Amino acid sequence: MTSDDRARALIEARQARPTAARLQVLRALLDAGRPLSHQEVQQSLELDRVTLYRVLDWLADTGIAHRINAADRITRFSVSSAPHCHAHFQCEQCGRIFCLPEGAPILPGPLPEGFVLREIEMTVKGVCADCAHQG
Ligand SMILES: [Zn+2]
Ligand SMILES: [Zn+2]
Repeated sequence: MTSDDRARALIEARQARPTAARLQVLRALLDAGRPLSHQEVQQSLELDRVTLYRVLDWLADTGIAHRINAADRITRFSVSSAPHCHAHFQCEQCGRIFCLPEGAPILPGPLPEGFVLREIEMTVKGVCADCAHQG
């Protein structure tokens, strides 16, 4: 399946209209395979800022993508199919962020009685394979 087909299928699964802007942005996220900031998406697309922000917010609100709020205060977006229960990895050299594989929810400890878990926001820091390779 091409990323164009995947983008269309993800949008149609939400009973939504696959507009040209939605398809373009979603395809960029699928092709990147890692979380992208507004700026990174804009670099590869010919979309005006307002449309881009609106589409990214729409993707996050429908659950097609998820937002990652990293310590550098740049919001990034990544395609997700499952509830957002995975950690992120931030490379301290190139600054890129990666979604780590979905696993058992990582909790520092049990939740107090009666609390309900909705989302875990966790960033692991280190050096990515590309940067580690460069020495
Ligand atoms: Zn890196
Ligand atoms: Zn993620």
